Amino acid sequence: MPDISEYVFLDKNKLDFFVSKLNTRQRVVAPVRKGVKSYAFAEVPSAKDISWKYIPTILPPKKYFMPQYETIQKFDKSKRTWETVVSSEPIVILGVHTCDLAGIEFLNAMMSSAPCDAHYRNRKANITLIGIECLDYCDGSASCAVMKNELPHGGYDLFMTEMKQGFISHVGSDRGRNIASDSRIFTPAKPEHIRELEELRARKKDIFKPEINVSHEELKNLFSQSFESNMWREEMEKRCVSCGNCTNVCPTCYCFDLRDELDLSLTTGERQRVWDSCQNETFAKVASGENFRKKKGLRQRHRYMRKFYYPVEKHGLYGCTGCGRCTRTCMAKISLKETINKLAEEQQNSKEPVLNQ
Ligand code: SF4
Ligand code: SF4
Repeated sequence: MPDISEYVFLDKNKLDFFVSKLNTRQRVVAPVRKGVKSYAFAEVPSAKDISWKYIPTILPPKKYFMPQYETIQKFDKSKRTWETVVSSEPIVILGVHTCDLAGIEFLNAMMSSAPCDAHYRNRKANITLIGIECLDYCDGSASCAVMKNELPHGGYDLFMTEMKQGFISHVGSDRGRNIASDSRIFTPAKPEHIRELEELRARKKDIFKPEINVSHEELKNLFSQSFESNMWREEMEKRCVSCGNCTNVCPTCYCFDLRDELDLSLTTGERQRVWDSCQNETFAKVASGENFRKKKGLRQRHRYMRKFYYPVEKHGLYGCTGCGRCTRTCMAKISLKETINKLAEEQQNSKEPVLNQ
């Protein structure tokens, strides 16, 4: 039974007031419709602008933690100065799905392991996260249940679940407690709210079923044994067009390039950090011209290994949240779930099955 003292209740008719109050102190961003079927996190002046039911946004909320282009240093040769730029602003990200909360938790772990990334840490310190629970599958590309991300696991300040009359909200931090302490907006949760939440979660068990033929526990072994699979040298080599979309939209990809931009006098300039993709042919090219992953199929193998094997070995964490963005965006219609099922089938047909080892 959840601890009722950790929950507050937000009546639906106070939603507008809630968003306007948040907006008085900082920028508020939330999912909004973009085109016919797509959504994006963008600034929302009022609650009416928010799409509470949405399929994962084109880009995940990681864009607020590590923007695609970021100036991290400025230099002036004439003054012999080299200044580190650490910028951040208070932002509330409202309506974050559980898969994206898991993506942020993964990035937090990567960016805080030595050497800690000061740029990421400073932005994170100013970001308030308010999650929203998915009560249904967003679409067939998602695999949050197999990645065990259909339920919240923390990493938020407040987490809202929509019910008949309003939103029951779990307080996840002191910052969340501070927001929830406004008695004009929130009231203490009642036992009937907790009962309704438990009924909703029980119903979710029938809706969110593992979407692939491999369990969460088996995934790491599957990938460790699939390193030499023909999947990479044949199917991925033929199909992938190396557009890099799958990595750009992924909530857990954090590779970047550093670029020094000089002014025309060659005196002042800045160092920029720009998202990079392991799917670009030049990504693994080194000074001598050697390229460690020249083949597209091997670059795809690297992408999958970075989700399902390497981070599990090193940090005990899967690098896939099951958001489904890579499948939705792939120009070659490569599906993450299909790839995993095919690898599992290949293993099962091999002489020495390795699943469950
Ligand atoms: S690998 Fe695909 S499904 Fe997994 S987190 Fe990245 S974009 Fe989402
Ligand atoms: S989105 Fe598809 S085609 Fe583009 S690099 Fe990724 S797997 Fe290849």
